[in-house]
Amino acid sequence: MSQINFDDLKEFNQKTFVNESELQDINISCIDCSEDFVWTVGEQIFFRDKGLQNPPKRCKVCKQAKNERIASIAAAQASGVKQKIEVSVFCAKCASYTTVPFYPSQGRPVYCRSCFLEMNPNLIETE
Ligand SMILES: [Zn+2]
Ligand SMILES: [Zn+2]
Repeated sequence: MSQINFDDLKEFNQKTFVNESELQDINISCIDCSEDFVWTVGEQIFFRDKGLQNPPKRCKVCKQAKNERIASIAAAQASGVKQKIEVSVFCAKCASYTTVPFYPSQGRPVYCRSCFLEMNPNLIETE
């Protein structure tokens, strides 16, 4: 049996059942694009009604972009097809133009397939 701590409960009630007229629009800075966006009273009430505890972290644009990313990943997973990406780069060793199936991280050299395999002979694929 867990005991109810009445102080916690009181605090919870105070936080949860704030008078709606005391709510104000809140400015939040987006974690993706760092732009400020407004978390409106209406949205705060919506969040509260849904029992959501945390304020939104992203502006509408970034939230939609994130949802689209998730949706496309989910769709790709559902159809069993791996998402193929192709990024155009110049090989850091032989300077030939090539494409790689990943987004190179900044500052990391990217090599064409033959240079990469030359440097990592143990990685030669066996398929
Ligand atoms: Zn944003
Ligand atoms: Zn190369």
